Amino acid sequence: MSAVWERLEPRLGELADLDSALRVLGWDQHVMMPPAGGAGRGRVMGTVQGLAHGRLVDPELGRLLDEAEADETLHDDQTAAVRLARRSYDKATKLPEGLVKEMAELASVAFEAWAEARPANDFSIFQPHLEKMVDLKKKAADAIGWSGERYDALLDDFEPGMTTAEVETLFDELVPALKPVADKILEAAGERPEFLTRTYEVDKQEDFCRWLVEQLGFDMSAGRFDVSPHPFTTHVGRGDVRQTTRYDSNRLLMSIRASIHETGHALFEQGIPEELWGLPTGDIQSLGLHESQSRIWEIQVGTSREFLDFMLPHLKEWFPEELGNLSPDDFYLGVNHPRRSLIRVEADAVTYNLHIALRFELELALFRDEISVRDLPDAFDAGMEKYLGLRPETRADGVLQDMHWAVGGFGYFPTYTLGTLYAAALFDRAREDLPGLCDDLRAGNTTPLLAWLREKVHHVGSRKPGKEIAEEAIGGPLTSEPFLGHLKTKYGELFGVEF
Ligand code: MG
Repeated sequence: MSAVWERLEPRLGELADLDSALRVLGWDQHVMMPPAGGAGRGRVMGTVQGLAHGRLVDPELGRLLDEAEADETLHDDQTAAVRLARRSYDKATKLPEGLVKEMAELASVAFEAWAEARPANDFSIFQPHLEKMVDLKKKAADAIGWSGERYDALLDDFEPGMTTAEVETLFDELVPALKPVADKILEAAGERPEFLTRTYEVDKQEDFCRWLVEQLGFDMSAGRFDVSPHPFTTHVGRGDVRQTTRYDSNRLLMSIRASIHETGHALFEQGIPEELWGLPTGDIQSLGLHESQSRIWEIQVGTSREFLDFMLPHLKEWFPEELGNLSPDDFYLGVNHPRRSLIRVEADAVTYNLHIALRFELELALFRDEISVRDLPDAFDAGMEKYLGLRPETRADGVLQDMHWAVGGFGYFPTYTLGTLYAAALFDRAREDLPGLCDDLRAGNTTPLLAWLREKVHHVGSRKPGKEIAEEAIGGPLTSEPFLGHLKTKYGELFGVEF
């Protein structure tokens, strides 16, 4: 074994362990912690973060990476781990310590201001903090460096290896094609089926969702399934992947969708091969690829006629009175019933990416110095009108609806759309490779699809950039065609619309 690897590997393992510790603390904060624990937890997490940062920027790690890069005896997996560790090390060491501290402090202050501004419906409470945040993010991007444009450095935190120009090309192709398709679908959709708004006991929903996520392949002996206000998934470490969902007695389908979505993320994490645990290659860096795994289960599987035909009789066992008379046709229609929404997180598969397109466009304009934070609220409303045909009546339903910008998450939004596009393309390819896939889903058998995703995506981990993994699995370049095709086929059949 390479002598430098023998010294480097424990250091990488230590960084992964500190990250695990932070993940447990974060999971606990959102799932278990009593409300009064917030300030104390913030301190504990700050201390652990400080330790992790200190270990990451340790010059000894830099020296080991130099040596490892010159070592020709390393095998491919080790080289990939070194490449990722180098990336983290360079980013962390390029950022001045003062700036890191300033950003961390601002993130918590700006988040508080956002949390106050939204219910008060008053952007001016949030505006100075957001201005400062944009300013610091520009400084951070310049410190890290970029070759095409400043936004590249921000995007790289969430979608390593992809450039702004590439992502912009995808949106430029998607949006003009999606807008008229969405308009036609929304116009054709009739009344909202009544069963969607009935009351469903939360205990039973919880019980059903637990059954469902296991049915999809989530291993409860190596994971947890809990409740939190905002559903999320986190990998704590080997054999410990935790996902959450949320319940609302009047919104049965929301809970089911959220549970399937998070299960997609969790299956990805449970599919990371053992040999990558504790290494940067076992930590998924591409949020677009991660989102593709949640979307493929949520949309391509979870809203398909085949899987819904399987699901309905089971759902009726839990809710015989509420759903006993519901027909498979009405269930399919209800699950896929589209509706214009002002709120991104409530948007359906038809309009969701128009919400993202708007946010991506505004982020680009901000970081290209084409608009200022002061102009953002009106630009947001105008964009909503342009893309969704809806004008927010309040700032709370407009520019203040998402928390991402408050914590400095610029560059995150476009990964949602990348995930959607990857998911549709991956599913098309899986259907070609697995001729029995539709029949399997109708029988509730998700094992063949999961095995396909494990082989093509999960088992690769972060050995390669997300885009490369997806394009190899798809067998060609990413385009919006599979996603648009999915919408046209599904809604063409559902509402008799021609595109
Ligand atoms: Mg997700």
